[in-house]
Amino acid sequence: MQLQCSEPCEASNQELREDRVCANCGAPLELVPERPSLSAEALRALWSGRRSSIEPADRSGVWRFRELLPAITERLADIVTIGEGNTPVLRGMATAKYAGVADLSIKHLGWNPTGSFKDTGMTVAVTRAAARGAKVVACASTGNTAASMAAYAARAGMKARVFLPRAVAAAKVAQAEAYGAELVRVGDNFDDALTEMLEGADPTTYVLNSLNPFRVAGQKTFIIELLEQLGWQVPDVIALPGGNLGNLAACGAALDDAMALGLITRRPRLAVIQAEGANPFARMWKSGAERLTPVSNPTTIASAIRIGAPVSWRNAARALRATGGTAIDVNDEAIAEARRVIGRDGIGCELGSAAALAGVKVLRDSGWLSEQERVICLLTGHLLKEPGTGDGSGNHAESHAHAGARC
Ligand SMILES: [Zn+2]
Repeated sequence: MQLQCSEPCEASNQELREDRVCANCGAPLELVPERPSLSAEALRALWSGRRSSIEPADRSGVWRFRELLPAITERLADIVTIGEGNTPVLRGMATAKYAGVADLSIKHLGWNPTGSFKDTGMTVAVTRAAARGAKVVACASTGNTAASMAAYAARAGMKARVFLPRAVAAAKVAQAEAYGAELVRVGDNFDDALTEMLEGADPTTYVLNSLNPFRVAGQKTFIIELLEQLGWQVPDVIALPGGNLGNLAACGAALDDAMALGLITRRPRLAVIQAEGANPFARMWKSGAERLTPVSNPTTIASAIRIGAPVSWRNAARALRATGGTAIDVNDEAIAEARRVIGRDGIGCELGSAAALAGVKVLRDSGWLSEQERVICLLTGHLLKEPGTGDGSGNHAESHAHAGARC
């Protein structure tokens, strides 16, 4: 497997460290795709056949598609898995009516082992860290990455150190603690926590933030799994919430793979939805700017996407351009309302995830998508991650109880 800078860049091999940004230009690194030589038909049969295996790696909804993952280990026993992936696609009822489309389905990535889509990337990145002999892993997080990393690190026998901003949903802090992570509470938002973590990380610490290319590689599988669940019939639009944008970058990479391998013959349009108070990418997209201008003090009730300086904006923009996609923002009232509607379908999600549905409604109202187009909403986090409304009635009161300096 080969590592490269995601930007046109003269970086030498010494400047490329897989768990950090490019030392020459600051862009995230990426793995050069190595695609299998099997036909689309053979791959589909192989992946489908593994569903009936009793081998844990075969039953994982990530490792089942391992032909698309970097070659980390030959031994299936070395794979660090806790049964990630295999999340359902559910037909929207109240949600479809609310958005004004005839055919809307929800793929709920919040039904992963630690309750968020992060598990699909973390299983690959922690397996990689273990293969390299890492003893300590670290991340900055709005909470979901912390919970996921803590679980997989525990499974692999590593020490996990998580850097959390002060306002994080209490349930996510409790998860990280339960899996035995060391918590460092720092700064007012994710961006502060990331800066502190990167400045303090010693060279032996393996960093598992979303810039880690092995996490992006693992996250590709939720799109492949979705396509398989749809019988390889490509939907018209896939809508997802946007915070750090690693999820959007992964969607783009997955669709590149699927097209190159002949698994699909056209790409769905990707629509990423940010919160109005944390919308640097939506603003960049709307203005046509070449570069992202961070939002210095991101504010939204949706803590999972309260990020002002998303790391993966370059690859995210590439994914939108490749698919004819778009980026928009929605306000907190629309996010809260969309979550109530999702609840009426008996599904539920954390607040940030509901931005996807709120965005579909806006895109339908604006005519960007038609009533007859087939829409998939990706929900990224479980309802129990953030059961409060974000208006001070639930999460905030609990969060303050944890808001010490360092613990
Ligand atoms: Zn570079």
